[in-house]
Amino acid sequence: MDVIVIGSGIGGLVTATQLAVKGARVLLLEQYLIPGGSAGYFERQGYRFDVGASMIFGFGQKGTTNLLTRALQAVSINLKVIPDPVQIHYHLPEGLDIKVNRIYEEFLQNLIAYFPHEDKGIRQFYDECWRVFHYLNSMELLSLEEPQYLLRSFFQKPLACLGLAKYLPQNVGDVAKRYIKDPRLLKFLDIECYCWSVVPARMTPMINAGMVFSDRHYGGVNYPKGGVGQIAQKLVEGLIKAGGQIQYQAKVAKILIENRQAVGVQLTNGQVYRAKRIVSNATRWDTFEKLLNQQEIPSNEKRWQLRYQKSPSFLNLHMGVKAEVLPSGTECHHILLEDWEKMTATEGTLFVSIPTLLDPELAPSGYHIIHAFTPSWIHEWQGLSPSEYEAKKEQAAWRIIDRLEKIFPGLDTGLDYLEVGTPKTHRRFLGRDDGTYGPIPRYKLRGLLGMPFNRTSISGLYCVGDSTFPGQGLNAVAFSGFACAHRIAVDLGL
Ligand SMILES: Cc1cc2nc3c(=O)[nH]c(=O)nc-3n(C[C@H](O)[C@H](O)[C@H](O)COP(=O)(O)OP(=O)(O)OC[C@H]3O[C@@H](n4cnc5c(N)ncnc54)[C@H](O)[C@@H]3O)c2cc1C
Repeated sequence: MDVIVIGSGIGGLVTATQLAVKGARVLLLEQYLIPGGSAGYFERQGYRFDVGASMIFGFGQKGTTNLLTRALQAVSINLKVIPDPVQIHYHLPEGLDIKVNRIYEEFLQNLIAYFPHEDKGIRQFYDECWRVFHYLNSMELLSLEEPQYLLRSFFQKPLACLGLAKYLPQNVGDVAKRYIKDPRLLKFLDIECYCWSVVPARMTPMINAGMVFSDRHYGGVNYPKGGVGQIAQKLVEGLIKAGGQIQYQAKVAKILIENRQAVGVQLTNGQVYRAKRIVSNATRWDTFEKLLNQQEIPSNEKRWQLRYQKSPSFLNLHMGVKAEVLPSGTECHHILLEDWEKMTATEGTLFVSIPTLLDPELAPSGYHIIHAFTPSWIHEWQGLSPSEYEAKKEQAAWRIIDRLEKIFPGLDTGLDYLEVGTPKTHRRFLGRDDGTYGPIPRYKLRGLLGMPFNRTSISGLYCVGDSTFPGQGLNAVAFSGFACAHRIAVDLGL
């Protein structure tokens, strides 16, 4: 084997498919029954639920940042997607009710209606995000660890490179405060960031914000027909077509190191596989603290852990509901917050996704899926007896349903199916330490400068996915996958 990839999250799958089309012999090992990780799915009583992600960027048709479109095209696979006309409908404190329309000017008008005195500042802030986006969207997005590529990009697009270098150490909060004074509007920008970065604006890198705040109006948010799980299923199809292999229920217990070089992996059943390069799509905590049989984790990983910590996981409600529960014109994605002070707290911000509004075939006729999730820490669910755990899940579920009743009156009586997942569920089924959503800065860092790339301090071992540059989200981990495959292809001389 040339390359073993541990884990079939979108980061692992993009790495594997990219390498397979470049001619590498690739083996992908997945502990679970299906691919996708946090972008997977499960089926119950006629409903097909997304386990996590459902607001999908990266399916645009133009530019270079449409990395999910590109990853599928690379293996000659088509996936039908359904455009979402509104990215998010926010239900915020003090009656702020704002829709982020796909059409940029409509969104600006919605926001300016609440903050007419900040008209100019709002436009200046979001226009600055567009500048970042246009720089990114004009360049081929590959490994920043590859000097030839950096040089080539610089000669081809010097202004974009210099522009991006300027924004790399900046955070959204600092840029926003240059243009905006109203504290309530700055709080709105906090939740605009928090809902994908899980940190407020002052800690959210400007590069990521440039992507999210602009691409939602450019390539747009698009939902895969058949559910988010289709992305991984289709990438696997492409991997096999390109000559790669995948094994399910193949849990890697350790990465084998010989002469300080990663040379293979051992599964929990004892089976050993060897390859020239090993890629871990597990989180950095799982990779360095569990899969490597070392006395101590490498010092640069320790330094990284001093800068970044695990974000909380989520408490998830997967519901099947009667169609009449949803008022006509309901949007697919909602965010609810009743008190600004609780934005980052456990059960503070409530995320809601109703994918059947875009693809009705995910539920039986006359019914919808509602996926509601809110931050929750694993320690809140530990040390409980099975009956205590079940009781706690039920209490938590009704607290969430009560909150949702405010936007969907009659939800309680219209409930047809309910399944509750906790951080322990995420840890178990997604193989993520403490069920974390991913790394978040411990304190205000300089933009994205501290996020590690794909190479590690162990020769032959690479990481890919949301604990590498540029962070969480399907399009972001696809970027990480393109970069990882690029670096490995150069290392292998492909
Ligand atoms: C509730 C929730 C909502 C989200 N919403 C969105 C959204 O709307 N839009 C968006 O873009 N993103 C969203 N995200 C984030 C997004 O889903 C993740 O950032 C992304 O899917 C992570 O991909 P990854 O490649 O890093 O790895 P993962 O998805 O974590 O996949 C890693 C894979 O590796 C496997 N694995 C781990 N350890 C081993 C081992 N030892 N042996 C074999 N296999 C192993 C796992 O089983 C898993 O399949 C959401 C996440 C969650 C949890």
